[in-house]
Parts: sequence; C-alpha cells; structure tokens
Amino acid sequence: MSIAENIAAVRARIADAAQEAGRDPGEIMLVGASKMNGAEACREAVAGGIDALGENRVQEMLAKLDEDAYAGAPLHFIGHLQRNKVRQVVGKVELIQSVGSLELLGEIEKCAAKVGVVQDVLLEVNVGGEAAKSGFSVSEIFQGAEAALGCLHIRVLGLMTIPPFDAEREENLRYFEKVRTLYVDIGAKLFHNGFRYLSMGMSGDFEDAIRSGATMVRVGTAIFGSRNYAPPAGQEELP
Ligand SMILES: *Cc1c(COP(=O)(O)O)cnc(C)c1O
Repeated sequence: MSIAENIAAVRARIADAAQEAGRDPGEIMLVGASKMNGAEACREAVAGGIDALGENRVQEMLAKLDEDAYAGAPLHFIGHLQRNKVRQVVGKVELIQSVGSLELLGEIEKCAAKVGVVQDVLLEVNVGGEAAKSGFSVSEIFQGAEAALGCLHIRVLGLMTIPPFDAEREENLRYFEKVRTLYVDIGAKLFHNGFRYLSMGMSGDFEDAIRSGATMVRVGTAIFGSRNYAPPAGQEELP
C-alpha cells in the first residue's frame, strides 16, 4: 500500500469512528507522525492529503526542512522539546504540541518575543503520571494553563496527551476521558471556550480517542509503515 492509500484507509476509519460517536469526521485533523521517515515520504503524505506533519526530533526536522519536505502542509512539533532547542523550533512550526512544563513555557515565551511571533501550542498532560514522561500532571495542568495565559507570545489552542503505552484498552479509554474532561473544563474556565485541539490517539488507538472526543490524531505507523529505529547517520540526537 502506498502512503496515499494508507492515508485514505486511516481517513475511512476516522470517519467510521466519528460517525459512530455522532461526530462530524470533518472536525478531526489527521497529523502524520513522520519521524524516521525521509523527505520523500513526507512529500508523499502531503500529496496524499495529510492535514499536517508532526516531528519529534529537532535535528531531524531541521534537516528535512532544508530539503523542503513539508511544503504544502503545516508542520507541528510533537516530541519532547529540550529547553536548549526551543529557539530552533519557535516560529518554524505552526504548532508545538508538547509543552509540558513551566520552564518550557518560559523559554518559548522568551524566544517567541525575541523573534516577534506568537507561538501556537498545546499543553501536554502526563495523564498516567509516569515519572519518565514529560507533560503537566493532572494536578499541575490548571496551573500550567494559567501560566500560559500570562505569556503574551504564546497562544494555547488545546491539550495533547500520550497515555501509558502498556495500558489495557479500558484503562486507556479512562485516560482519554480524563483528558477530555480537562480540555472542556480548562477551555471553559480559562480560555472562553477558545480551545480547538484535543490531540490524542495514535495508530493503535485513534478510533477510541475519537470516540472520547479527540479533534486531532497523530498517526505514524498506519501511514508510513513500521519504523527502523536506527537513526540515519548524522541525525543521532545529542543529549
Ligand atoms: C511517533 C508518534 C506518534 C505516532 O505513533 P504511531 O504509533 O506510529 O502511530 C504519535 N505521537 C507522538 C508524540 C509520536 O512521537
């Protein structure tokens, strides 16, 4: 199957899940998670009608930007962002989906002010409370959202989450529901219902995420095929 055919197949599954939930499939944005896939694959996804492409390694993204890999589609940053790499991302991507700490908010604000842009972001919720995962915990997310409101060069458009990868289906659904509740509450209380994006769901669970209210899904494997985890030479991520 080609990348375009995979996108069409994923779209059909999105439409089925949305209809089942009484939702309009048109309100669900499909982001291709293109990590470890080259510029040509990204171009194929753009030609195949992907709504946006999401990268999670800064160096890989910059290399592919140089190759004009994303022309024709918005680019998102979806991975863990280190503070010392923020300035390489701010202003270059339409949306940073993975803002999960006050420190990161502060750094993005500083860089965005410096280059004179307002950076759109999502706040990441570490819904499983995993020690090794970034994101605001459920108990910190309100505080994070309030802090973001004070950043004049940051606009928060919603929330993003990645539940624990080993969660059973029922548990995974509860995580999605939890984040949906936070999305609705925080959007109403702090953002005048101005939230647009609830980003949750990947290849293995995007249909459940849509049934739980996701408006944005990030799909890699089901579009690009399985990844080879040896990074291309010269693109190893430095610590
Ligand atoms: C890789 C990645 C995805 C997509 O994962 P698949 O299981 O391949 O669909 C989604 N979100 C983030 C943050 C990712 O890094």
